[in-house]
Amino acid sequence: MLSCACILCGYELHAQAVSLVQAQRTRPSVARDAQSLCHPRVGVHATADAGTASSGVFPRFMARFPTIASLAGARPKAVMEEWDGLGYYARARNLHKLAREVTRLHDGTLPDKPEELRTLPGVGRYTAGAVACFAYEKPVPTVDTNVRRVLTRVFGNANVEMRNAELWKVASRLVPKDGPRAWRFNQALMELGALVCKARQPKCPECPVRTDCRAVRSGMRIHNRPPAHPR
Ligand code: SF4
Repeated sequence: MLSCACILCGYELHAQAVSLVQAQRTRPSVARDAQSLCHPRVGVHATADAGTASSGVFPRFMARFPTIASLAGARPKAVMEEWDGLGYYARARNLHKLAREVTRLHDGTLPDKPEELRTLPGVGRYTAGAVACFAYEKPVPTVDTNVRRVLTRVFGNANVEMRNAELWKVASRLVPKDGPRAWRFNQALMELGALVCKARQPKCPECPVRTDCRAVRSGMRIHNRPPAHPR
């Protein structure tokens, strides 16, 4: 049976452990500011999605609005001007609304509970879990596209999408119950999906969880399915 220890230990022994170590070094600090929220979805993904043409735009945005208070106090036009080039403009609008709401309702500090985070504009289950886990070290799961793929292959039918509720149930069961181990576990699972259990041509012979993987045990042929977006 796959356990968190299996993923953590196996992954650290794996050649890709260097990525995990790097991720640990660059893990967001326990910072109660906009940086925490921007890490999981708004910033990192928007920058990656927008491609190299936008490189430098997001760091510039963060330099201009380094805290929730500075973003909340900005005029909408100024926010959109700084975001220009990143695309996904609804994200900028949501981030601005969120900063204002956090200022108004939470004294300018992002809540640390996923259920409270999810009441904020533009924050879904994945983002709420990522902020709670990475910024506040809460022992909660977060399921992004990579985690979804790994869990589907290890526990389900590699070629049939697992239901959302089922995925989150499995992720909740696996995540360690103490915070520092929880974020490391979530990070390891994400990196396992990004570097080893890739959508196309997964590297099963090198995978630290291959002996527990249902897809491999059943000799299942893994199709190249396009990854589903996290919600
Ligand atoms: S054994 Fe292969 S399919 Fe299973 S989790 Fe590892 S890389 Fe993915």
